[in-house]
Amino acid sequence: MTSTPGPLAEASAPPPEPSAPPPEPSARSGADDPRRVLVRLREAFRTAGIPSADVRIASLESLAQSLARHKEAVAEAIASDFGGRSKHETLIVDIFTVLAAIKHAKAHLREWMAAEHRETSWVFLPSTCEVVRQPLGVVGIISPWNYPVQLSLSPLVSVLAAGNRAMIKPSELVPHTADVIARIVSEALRDDQVAVVSGGADVGEAFARLPFDHLVFTGSTRVGKLVMRAASENLVPVTLELGGKSPAVVGADFDTRTAAARIMAGKTFNGGQTCVAPDYALVPAGTEQAFAEACAAAVAQLYPTLANNPDYTAIVSGPHYARLRMLVDDARARGARVVELNPAGEVLEATSRKMLPTLVLEPTGEMACMQEEVFGPVLPVVGYNDLADAIRYVNDRPRPLAVYYFGHDRNAIERVLSETVSGGVTINETTLHVLQDDLPFGGVGPSGMGHYHGREGFETFSQQKSVYRQSRISTTALLRPPYRKTADRLLRFLLGS
Ligand code: NAD
Repeated sequence: MTSTPGPLAEASAPPPEPSAPPPEPSARSGADDPRRVLVRLREAFRTAGIPSADVRIASLESLAQSLARHKEAVAEAIASDFGGRSKHETLIVDIFTVLAAIKHAKAHLREWMAAEHRETSWVFLPSTCEVVRQPLGVVGIISPWNYPVQLSLSPLVSVLAAGNRAMIKPSELVPHTADVIARIVSEALRDDQVAVVSGGADVGEAFARLPFDHLVFTGSTRVGKLVMRAASENLVPVTLELGGKSPAVVGADFDTRTAAARIMAGKTFNGGQTCVAPDYALVPAGTEQAFAEACAAAVAQLYPTLANNPDYTAIVSGPHYARLRMLVDDARARGARVVELNPAGEVLEATSRKMLPTLVLEPTGEMACMQEEVFGPVLPVVGYNDLADAIRYVNDRPRPLAVYYFGHDRNAIERVLSETVSGGVTINETTLHVLQDDLPFGGVGPSGMGHYHGREGFETFSQQKSVYRQSRISTTALLRPPYRKTADRLLRFLLGS
């Protein structure tokens, strides 16, 4: 691709088509038939019974050690699968967040596992009530390519904390990483505890049809629908971690440069290939140009050069790169002002799959970049008149995975929190709510259903069993046939008549 030189150059000519061939999906099916693997895991679950807190903590510790041992291999594998992935980004998201989740789970596991005393309805006193958390059995995990280790192992942390066994299917787009995930797991845990199966959409499809005790899927909304349909055949409960268009709203009282710097950092991390990346920006009408200039300054600071910068992550595949180019070309053809941010005025070859951070100014609703999740370093910038207008814009669209608001005014923050519905919110930054181990993570409606991370992850993969223990003294006998005067009197009392 040829790019226009200059830090804030308006791009006019459509770039040539990318020449990188689409990668061959790895068709490596696990040596074992997934159905047989599931039988093995379930039999082991039944035989071994419910694992104690000590056993679960030992499994989590073993996973942490294996992951830490393989951190270099993980960074190399992801870099090779992406054709260039920042090592720091891998260490932060694919290694650190999983280790932090393990540490948090180990510290809180006993408290999460403790039976929870609940109030007994007064008629039944002195009987007692409690909720007991019980492992479900075997959980299926289908993961995407963008943070391939984190999105395979972080659900696994919750699954193991809750005392389950698991079967993982990583994405076929990251075959080297899938091999390293299999190695990390096999060195840490027995093969009747966790298994990794490899393959593409066909294997995923068969995987989603297996009669798991729970299925957690992270990926696109399109495939999420297929997974839920397949799981419904066996009434397998699903947790769907999907995507969507997460807006970043810049309040009129917030410094434009600071907002732009934080939004562009969130947008360019991992080449924009983050489910909670700010998808588009809503800025006060009339400030679009100032915001664009601040974005250019921010990119120049983050990435003084882009072409051979190991900090700047490539787009994962030729087809993904072509789709992003299509979003930009479509916006340009429909009249948007396209601004490529190119601090060193470089030419980025399509074969490198590194894409210039690109702003789409004056986008309209019909443009593809406002219809589908961007999932790359392209930021549409929409002007709004007042906060009500910005909130309406967000609410007129499918419920997003995240909403970001930049502002100081407490009323405005409260309005955004109460008047928009999203999986999560970060105020005055982007994406950081996801890194909090004690906050649940998940989407809402088209951006997902159910939660994991922290206590909610433990709860998601546990059966919350209601237990009532009858006391020696029982009043319920008074309400059994044959119904006579005592029952009538008691009912009058209970019904307050
Ligand atoms: P994808 O939906 O194409 O694939 C995800 C996984 O599903 C892969 O392992 C794939 O092999 C498998 N799969 C494909 N077809 C299947 C089928 N018919 N049945 C079962 N499994 C099937 O997603 P992707 O391109 O790998 O990831 C990008 C998407 O994931 C984006 O939309 C992004 O927002 C979303 N995402 C969400 C989160 C989150 O936590 N909410 C995190 C990362 C990515």
